[in-house]
Amino acid sequence: MRSTRPLAAFLATVPLLAGTGSAEADSESASADVMVGERVVTVRAEEVAPGLFFITGAGGNMGLSIGDDGVFLVDDQYAPLTDAIRQVIAKLTDQPVKFVLNTHWHGDHTGGNENLGASGTVVIAHDNVRSRMSAEQFESFWDRTTPASAPEALPVVTFSDAVTFHMNGLSIRAFHVAAAHTDGDTIVQFQEANVVHMGDVLFHYWYPYIDVSAGGSVRGTIAAVNAVLSMIDAQTVVMPGHGATVTDKAGLENYRDMLQDVADRIQSMIDAGKSLEEVQAARPTAAWDEEWGQHFMTPELFTKLIYGDLSGGL
Ligand SMILES: [Zn+2]
Repeated sequence: MRSTRPLAAFLATVPLLAGTGSAEADSESASADVMVGERVVTVRAEEVAPGLFFITGAGGNMGLSIGDDGVFLVDDQYAPLTDAIRQVIAKLTDQPVKFVLNTHWHGDHTGGNENLGASGTVVIAHDNVRSRMSAEQFESFWDRTTPASAPEALPVVTFSDAVTFHMNGLSIRAFHVAAAHTDGDTIVQFQEANVVHMGDVLFHYWYPYIDVSAGGSVRGTIAAVNAVLSMIDAQTVVMPGHGATVTDKAGLENYRDMLQDVADRIQSMIDAGKSLEEVQAARPTAAWDEEWGQHFMTPELFTKLIYGDLSGGL
């Protein structure tokens, strides 16, 4: 059909396209590549609201606010990525990174703290993030020990409940949710922009890891998601800690429904005295596996995680 379209009709549309431009066309993006071992990692920032960006790379997804008051960053991935993250931010603003807020203690969200702190960034987190980073941690699910972080990597400002940053024309409200992915999770709400960063309380279309050894739980994760759902609307942009794209209220509801259904099924089998092997054989996640079970947390592993959490066996 396009080939038969009169040239004059096509030309008539050109000034319109050039002259207006939708919000989509105005949104910015920036990226930078970095070698991590043998692998090329692309750090990429996509604008999701004016001055607000969703950044992917390796490790936990970041959030970024830029403006006249400086740069506010949610999480900082791994130390080898700091230069690439700085390059991406420098393509968007000439302001320094004033604050980084860690959503929880895991190294794929806090690995850049020491580098950023050395150049004057103030690192902020919940009290439990600093205390867990200050001591060796053992995650029984992965049989993994993480040494204490260097003192220079620790958050220098901590809070117990909530803190609000007033900058770049926004109220950036960071609030603690108890016993969710860990015992130190923070949700970050960019209020006037209607954007929320969930940290690892949300894995978008991956079965989530829940760090039960660090005080996390599936019931607490569901409660935290429900709390956020009560605060947002159909237009809210929802950033997940893991997963390639942002989502929305409907995506968050779908995640909650999956967690609730899997937890309820496994709980009833625990109540009936079933062993882990019997529960895994019954495939309590089957209805959700195609959408959620295609990443590192396989259906079998996720069943083991939720069984261990709900039976007190982790
Ligand atoms: Zn995590």
